[in-house]
Amino acid sequence: MAVSGRGPYDPQNVFAKILRGEIPCRKVYENDYALAFQDIAPQAPVHVLVIPKGPYVSFADFSQTAGDAEIAGFTRAVGHVAGLLGLDEDGYRLLANMGVAAGQEVPHFHVHLFGGAALGPMLHRS
Ligand code: AMP
Repeated sequence: MAVSGRGPYDPQNVFAKILRGEIPCRKVYENDYALAFQDIAPQAPVHVLVIPKGPYVSFADFSQTAGDAEIAGFTRAVGHVAGLLGLDEDGYRLLANMGVAAGQEVPHFHVHLFGGAALGPMLHRS
């Protein structure tokens, strides 16, 4: 079910549990600011999620309230993970769903990193 992307952070969300080590993930990379792991239901040959370690509900929350070091550390981690996965040459797509219109389901800010194939049109058109 889609979430608003606003409001108080829910520390029981699934990514908070992953960060605390309460449920497992297939880790790809970790630094002081970010954790990257395989999406449980991949939608491309490469589908990795990169999440900040701080408690941010959405991109709106992260961009408005995270500190400069967190934003820089997280952004660099996303780029680093793309390189680690060998995606720099052929390219990749980043996606962050914010709120109901975008269909955000997990209320902890995350960036989807897709690659490994031609990814098709940017948005679904019905
Ligand atoms: P979004 O719709 O942008 O909130 O995307 C949430 C993503 O989290 C989906 O692609 C899910 O497949 C993924 N997901 C949910 N639970 C897990 C989990 N335990 N481990 C890895 N990925 C997950």
